[in-house]
Amino acid sequence: MKIITLNCGSSSVKYALFDMPSRKRLSYGIVQRVTLTGSFIEHYDAHNQKSTHRRECPTHAVAIALVMEFLTNPQAGGIKDLAEVNGFGHRVVHGGEKFTSAVVINDEVIRSVAEFSMLAPLHNPANLAGIRAAMQLAPDVPHVAIFDTAFLATMPPHAYIYALPYEWYEKYHIRRYGFHGTSHGYVSKRAAAFLGRKPAAVNLITLHIGNGVSITAVKDGAAYDHSMGFTPLEGAVMGTRCGDIDPAIPLYVMQQENLSSAEMESILNRNSGLLGITGKYVDRRDILAAMQAGDKRAVLSFEIECYRLRKYIGAYLAALGRVDAVVFTAGVGENSPRHRAKICEGLDGLGIKLAEDRNRQAVGGQEEMEINAPDSPVKVLVIPTNEELAFAEEVFSLVGKGRDNLY
Ligand code: ADP
Repeated sequence: MKIITLNCGSSSVKYALFDMPSRKRLSYGIVQRVTLTGSFIEHYDAHNQKSTHRRECPTHAVAIALVMEFLTNPQAGGIKDLAEVNGFGHRVVHGGEKFTSAVVINDEVIRSVAEFSMLAPLHNPANLAGIRAAMQLAPDVPHVAIFDTAFLATMPPHAYIYALPYEWYEKYHIRRYGFHGTSHGYVSKRAAAFLGRKPAAVNLITLHIGNGVSITAVKDGAAYDHSMGFTPLEGAVMGTRCGDIDPAIPLYVMQQENLSSAEMESILNRNSGLLGITGKYVDRRDILAAMQAGDKRAVLSFEIECYRLRKYIGAYLAALGRVDAVVFTAGVGENSPRHRAKICEGLDGLGIKLAEDRNRQAVGGQEEMEINAPDSPVKVLVIPTNEELAFAEEVFSLVGKGRDNLY
């Protein structure tokens, strides 16, 4: 069966067309600058041949119509007609406390996604615009919502309730939700398969280290704790987000510099993290190059980032008691032996022992690899994430023949 996945951001639409259950990606691409001027599509066919085309996309609906044009292109698309498509998978960032798994979209789901826009004002409205546009173009096939928060919905209250007035949880739904759930869920299942076990039989610590960074403690295959919180700001040091800080700091600086809450929110989200420490770098490749050139702040940012991730590994080892594998994924996790080595430095005593040569070989994001020393009690895996494929798998499991065929 053919499945289209759509990931609508505030100014972009990422898409892919899959054949399931073969998991073959037939084509994919991205429309950039949606709702802005100068929009264009970058489309890749099954052989990764790229074509670029400019067309103004003032709305998500126009962008999605453009995507459908490219997907039904006889040479580069993969399908002749939208009638060949058996289902759509839509990424939705926030599913609140209501959605603990992917669901087929109906009016009630749409109402709830709109309601949760309060909790994810930058994401849910764009996700919804994409859903509405695609449903109009293909009203007769199932559309499935896949929530970033769903895999993390199994956390117990002692992991998700903050030590704040309890009424804030009741009144404003303030709790830890976590994000990147699709990625953590996907790599957890792949890791279990790699270890030759059922997903429910593994305890893992999964580290998604991209521009955004999050860590999940996975107990018996389900999320038990997670580093991101009410928003993606909490947890690890990220490209431009601060991660865990003393909450008194922003209050103090707001007073000192007479800043509004919107200004402070922007600083914590866009001018902190690695950018804040180095003053110039977000991309880890730039940081590694600057370290080589003797930039002390770049070295400091690398040390802070890796140290803080190591502390999370320690905390989640304690939270889980037994860990089968530590799993690295996303841009840095899949490509940077330097980061992985530094993060795991000194963890031998806790049963985590890297093999230097294997670690060095695990680059490129193509292969699932074991990078621990043979005598390491805890395995260390590099598992490339693939959120688009995870969306397609969710659709297949809901409207196709079922997940049992996949794992
Ligand atoms: P996101 O999806 O959050 O934007 P990605 O998962 O694509 O992020 O990861 C982006 C990060 O991965 C960037 O900081 C980039 O520098 C880093 N990265 C990619 N390749 C390498 C590499 N070879 N070495 C170190 N970092 C890398």
